Amino acid sequence: RAKQTHGCSYAIFETSRDSDPATHITLEPELWEALRQEQFVLFYQPRIDLRTGKIIGAEALMRWRHPERGLVQPDEFIPVAEKTGLIVPMGYWAIHQAGQDMRRFRDAGFRYGSIGVNLSFRQFKDEFLARTIRRIIDKNEIDPTRLEFELTESALFADETHVQSCLKELSELGIDFSLDDFGTGYSSFALLQKLPISTLKIDKSFVGGVNSSKDDEEIVRAVINLAHNLNKKVIAEGVENKAQLEFLIRHECDQVQGYFFSPPVPVEDFMRMLRNN
Ligand code: C2E
Ligand code: MG
Ligand code: MG
Ligand code: MG
Repeated sequence: RAKQTHGCSYAIFETSRDSDPATHITLEPELWEALRQEQFVLFYQPRIDLRTGKIIGAEALMRWRHPERGLVQPDEFIPVAEKTGLIVPMGYWAIHQAGQDMRRFRDAGFRYGSIGVNLSFRQFKDEFLARTIRRIIDKNEIDPTRLEFELTESALFADETHVQSCLKELSELGIDFSLDDFGTGYSSFALLQKLPISTLKIDKSFVGGVNSSKDDEEIVRAVINLAHNLNKKVIAEGVENKAQLEFLIRHECDQVQGYFFSPPVPVEDFMRMLRNN
């Protein structure tokens, strides 16, 4: 199903199982309950700086500790949360939780760059987004310079002035923004210049094709060059093997994230990694 906004049509819901209305109906009250009972957890996937070979931060990724089903992956509930609007309170919870975890990292004396939290396009429909994030930051004494938000290109299709003012307000606090899954959406170069986005994250579908598809290799190289020419950092997602890593080093990608180094892990495991960093 394509959604019509500001004359741009884009498909968001077409692939996932949430297109099955039954899933959506049964899951919504369960998700509310999960939020209330604090069944969501954040896992952390380290990001590695290719210049130093050290962990420079992590992406926070939500999981659902379901009382019967065990650990449920985001693909099974985030699309429903987006569709029902529940992603708004869930997203605020994630920022709050990441802030608590960042405090633990700081108290343990760890040195790290930043923690990335995903923001859904749907959260930009909330007129209080920037104000609420500010409040969460103040109340929890979160260091905004260690916080980074990952947006997908779909977020940029929301009300443009609202997105622009949110990003501006938050970036003035020292928060960085990165563009997630870059290359799979419809971002325009004009928007890339206009918005305070400091990092491009190359989608794992392109990274996965390195060393097997010439086209994917060209795309990865082009995105690295584009990022650097626009004075942005570039991160490759989904690095699974040494050949991909070597390609990325050769083409001067800044950071990598992927199963080759580590899958997303519970916070205690991530802290162990920081300790040995
Ligand atoms: P994403 O933000 O693009 O996150 C990267 C996804 O790639 C994660 O999937 C991660 O586990 C996976 N990944 C990392 N390295 C590799 C690799 O080497 N190979 C492969 N095949 N996959 C790798 P995950 O954790 O299942 O999350 C899926 C998506 O769910 C995320 O994609 C993000 O869009 C969404 N999501 C997760 N947590 C949150 C959240 O707190 N808020 C919002 N709005 N969305 C979230
Ligand atoms: Mg992400
Ligand atoms: Mg991604
Ligand atoms: Mg994604």
